[in-house]
Amino acid sequence: MLASTGYGATSATEPLAKIDFERRDPKPNDVQIDILYCGVCHSDLHTARNEWGNTVYPVVPGHEIVGRVTKVGNEVTRFKEGDLVGVGCMVDSCQQCSACGEGLEQYCENGFVGTYNGEEGHTGGMTYGGYASNIVVRDKFVLKIPANLDPAGAAPLLCAGITTFSPLRQWKVSPGQKVGIVGLGGLGHMGIKLAHAMGAHVVLFTTSPGKREDAKRLGADDVVVSKNASEMKAHRNSFDFILNTVAAPHSLDPFLDLLKRDGTMTLVGAPATPHPSPQVFSLIMKRRRLAGSLIGGIAETQEMLDFCGQHNIVSDIEMIRIQDINEAYERMLKSDVKYRFVIDMASLKQPS
Ligand SMILES: [Zn+2]
Ligand SMILES: [Zn+2]
Repeated sequence: MLASTGYGATSATEPLAKIDFERRDPKPNDVQIDILYCGVCHSDLHTARNEWGNTVYPVVPGHEIVGRVTKVGNEVTRFKEGDLVGVGCMVDSCQQCSACGEGLEQYCENGFVGTYNGEEGHTGGMTYGGYASNIVVRDKFVLKIPANLDPAGAAPLLCAGITTFSPLRQWKVSPGQKVGIVGLGGLGHMGIKLAHAMGAHVVLFTTSPGKREDAKRLGADDVVVSKNASEMKAHRNSFDFILNTVAAPHSLDPFLDLLKRDGTMTLVGAPATPHPSPQVFSLIMKRRRLAGSLIGGIAETQEMLDFCGQHNIVSDIEMIRIQDINEAYERMLKSDVKYRFVIDMASLKQPS
């Protein structure tokens, strides 16, 4: 077994603390990676605190991983020692079902293997994530990081980036379209950057007027304060597509009313409690669509990384030491981060 050290939780109520654990030895089709940076996602916090009720302890979170390859199995041809690589939310899937056959591993009918708190399969234990010194991953689930991108800023692309890129692509966002992004957090700020790079006219919806300047800096053409009914009304029936990143329960109707005929609003925020049901008439009268989307497949994640390389897009980040992860969780709960925490894994070697 491969020795690893990281930060994890041993119960829903304990703060994260240093933990030593083991990973499988690399198989012939595995890549072993020394982790340089790991982004901090809301899912990490939900899982560490068992807020979805499925956590197996101890849990080591982290699924926005960037690192260097240190070893490859003898069947691995796409990677070699020294390559800068990424690992996102998945580390394996069945590779047999129709979803996997179409490169949509995130919708694997047998359930994909999550990067943490997933069933490991080889060891019989659970997978451990990226708040750690190293990781061993099947080569098919390892991604290439474009050389021109800042590796720390690229880490959040592996979850926040693909979660927003995939629906923008699925609903064919293109130049000249009017696209709304609801919420300016980790997901929303990536949504603005990506939709802008795809050539859309981008409008940010926020409840905080103070975010106007920042949204424009990130690439928004316009900012609408969603609590202001007259500002909202001015945009009725005008949007081709709206990407709603807000997880907190809220009424979807004011946003559905802004869609053109045949327009779509896609939800990517993961709510702990449900949104109020939308008005069906609002959908019927304009043939509007309400949809959801989950991360993206491996091929599409590579496409997203290459797109970000071409357009020089990374996440706006605040770098932290692993020792400060519990404080970062508290700040994340208050949305006090612009716009993603990234752990500098070199800090693991410092005294806690
Ligand atoms: Zn995530
Ligand atoms: Zn499958």
